[in-house]
Amino acid sequence: MFQEIPTQVDIEYDPLPAKDGDSVLCFDGRSVLVQIRDNKAILPSVKELDTKGRCVFVFNADGKRFFLCLEKTSAQGFDFEPLNKIRQVAADIEHYAIVTGFHYYCFHRESRFCSVCGKALEHSPQKRCMVCTGCGGEVYPKIAPAVILGIIDEQTDSILLTRYADREYKKYALVAGFVEMGESAEMAAKREAMEETGLEIEDIEFFATQPWGFAQNLLIGYFAKVKGSRRIEMDKQELAEAVWVKRGDVPAEPGSISLTGEMMWAFKSSQR
Ligand SMILES: [Zn+2]
Repeated sequence: MFQEIPTQVDIEYDPLPAKDGDSVLCFDGRSVLVQIRDNKAILPSVKELDTKGRCVFVFNADGKRFFLCLEKTSAQGFDFEPLNKIRQVAADIEHYAIVTGFHYYCFHRESRFCSVCGKALEHSPQKRCMVCTGCGGEVYPKIAPAVILGIIDEQTDSILLTRYADREYKKYALVAGFVEMGESAEMAAKREAMEETGLEIEDIEFFATQPWGFAQNLLIGYFAKVKGSRRIEMDKQELAEAVWVKRGDVPAEPGSISLTGEMMWAFKSSQR
């Protein structure tokens, strides 16, 4: 997964301003300013920007600092590439920076005014939050927990794979959904399995988590066994396909950037 990089990431907020050698994340909608070379995404440094916009600190990795530029800018030799294309490049620190930076970019785009008093918000000088210029209230980045579920049928040695009905991502995925208010992640897993596929599950076992800034999520992965009937009753609003796939036929490879890919590989390679 992209966050499993041999680099020490320090997410604690650093209030020192951006310097020439620091890396910059600049977004335009769902596109990011990069150079793609040898299947790697390369970010511009502050000194390479044509105009230096206002920058805020994102994180530090092995002493290298990454900033988010809050104004659209350009850099010689760099282009705005869609995030869907970025999902295909190598899982390295730049990849992690783009996903995390996009989460922060969404936070800035969606946090301009206080929802209590309506006055403008501005970034705190000390920490990663916005502060209201009217009432002083603080607003933190939204992180929405969501579960990903590998449902296994031991009798046929199969896993349930799905395809979403209305998303750009057209490859096989696993049953997934948001944790609702008042639910534990395990309760959400049971509810999503029933809602999306009509299946009851048991023996829910934690696998791993992953920060997923593409959609401001924290993903929580579980494996579970199907209980009772294996007959799928698919939610046609959410899914275009839901099928049992035999272990050897699962379309997965090692080294996936995503928790979904990692879980599919864990099943295919008999780690689960
Ligand atoms: Zn306010």
